[in-house]
Amino acid sequence: MGRSEELFKEAVRYIPGGVNSPVRAYGNVGMTPRFMQEATGPYIVDVDGNRYIDYICSWGPMIFGHANQEVLSKVVAACQHGLSFGTATEIEVDVAKFICDHIPHVEMVRMVNSGTEAVMSALRVARGFTGREKIVKFAGCYHGHSDAMLVSVGSGVMTAGVPDSLGVTKGATKDTLTATYNDLESAADLFSANEGEIAAVIVEPVGANMGVVPPKPGFLEGLRKLCDEGNALLIFDEVITGFRLAFGGAAEYYGVTPDLVTYGKIIGGGMPVGAYGGRREIMEMVSPVGGVYQAGTLSGNPIAMAAGITQLQILHRSKDMYTRLNVLSQQLYGEMEQLIEQYHMPYQLNHVGSLGSLFFTEQEVIDYGSAKASDTVAFAEYFRFMLEHGIHLAPSQFEAMFLSCMHEEDVIAETLNVVEAFFKSK
Ligand SMILES: *Cc1c(COP(=O)(O)O)cnc(C)c1O
Repeated sequence: MGRSEELFKEAVRYIPGGVNSPVRAYGNVGMTPRFMQEATGPYIVDVDGNRYIDYICSWGPMIFGHANQEVLSKVVAACQHGLSFGTATEIEVDVAKFICDHIPHVEMVRMVNSGTEAVMSALRVARGFTGREKIVKFAGCYHGHSDAMLVSVGSGVMTAGVPDSLGVTKGATKDTLTATYNDLESAADLFSANEGEIAAVIVEPVGANMGVVPPKPGFLEGLRKLCDEGNALLIFDEVITGFRLAFGGAAEYYGVTPDLVTYGKIIGGGMPVGAYGGRREIMEMVSPVGGVYQAGTLSGNPIAMAAGITQLQILHRSKDMYTRLNVLSQQLYGEMEQLIEQYHMPYQLNHVGSLGSLFFTEQEVIDYGSAKASDTVAFAEYFRFMLEHGIHLAPSQFEAMFLSCMHEEDVIAETLNVVEAFFKSK
């Protein structure tokens, strides 16, 4: 028995399921989780000393690969001055100014501690601003685990096969309306049936929690138009896509401007950080300026801010970084597509920029329903094969692959060899 198996036996005695987030569980791939101890660049090493090429990248934050030295040294330097003061600090101003200076649709921003918090707060602001109560979301989109958003969710909830969650009251979700991803008409129908009542539409501009599901051309533009006509706010949940597809996220990549945006993952550089922002008149609803209450003991703490702003600064100054990341991603995904064709595999590969998912279905994957058609038993087999051959993927069909710019040509080539070996073995 390896050290991971030993640790897991111990972990399940004290932690529900042995993990602090369900997406880390290996139950549906029929294994025990690998316990990791260190990571650098594209590699992650488990407690038995096995080294893997890592395509989780902490679920996105590690866009420069693990243990980026510049980020680490700024964090260590900040630690010397104390971990948290619970007061206003200079670095919070630097972070907010940097974001507002470089993201045209963000005039004001509030820092929080997770993507969940960012979304929960943005929805509250949208309701406060519009004086309306209903929210439209899309099936298969994950917006964190706040009560109102645990309806037709993707990510871990989808993997667990639980439709929603116990403990969420009908009252908490009665104002959450669900439309079909990539189906504008389904959203338009909700607007007609709830005229004057919809505060906001929230969407992952690229679905990345039901596996990767890109928006069809016109989908995001159509949502913008629906919101304008219905006097509702458009919220892009850019917790994954923000600073990944482009510095300005999916909004920049697709050229569609949301009223509010939520960030997480990359914005913390590996520390627990989230943020929400948007137009000044909307953000001025937030307490203590306006009547929408939202607070946080550790929000904007100097250590998290040091990690976050350093990562954002590197991303911004190395403008070629996105070109480079997309070239590397295209090498991986483009070649995988060719292999699928060459070996006549009945699979779909969805990808946008550095995000991608292999679905085990012949059917095109465009929404929650078609994503669920993927053969998760076949996925589990693929997952195990990849892991055994040194490739660390998310242990779920419904999570994305995340590339970093440290996934260089040799790393991509090694990955493709394993993918090809798996296809050959079929
Ligand atoms: C991860 C994620 C969240 C939740 O962020 P946490 O930091 O895990 O709370 C929200 N929205 C999207 C799109 C996400 O991918």
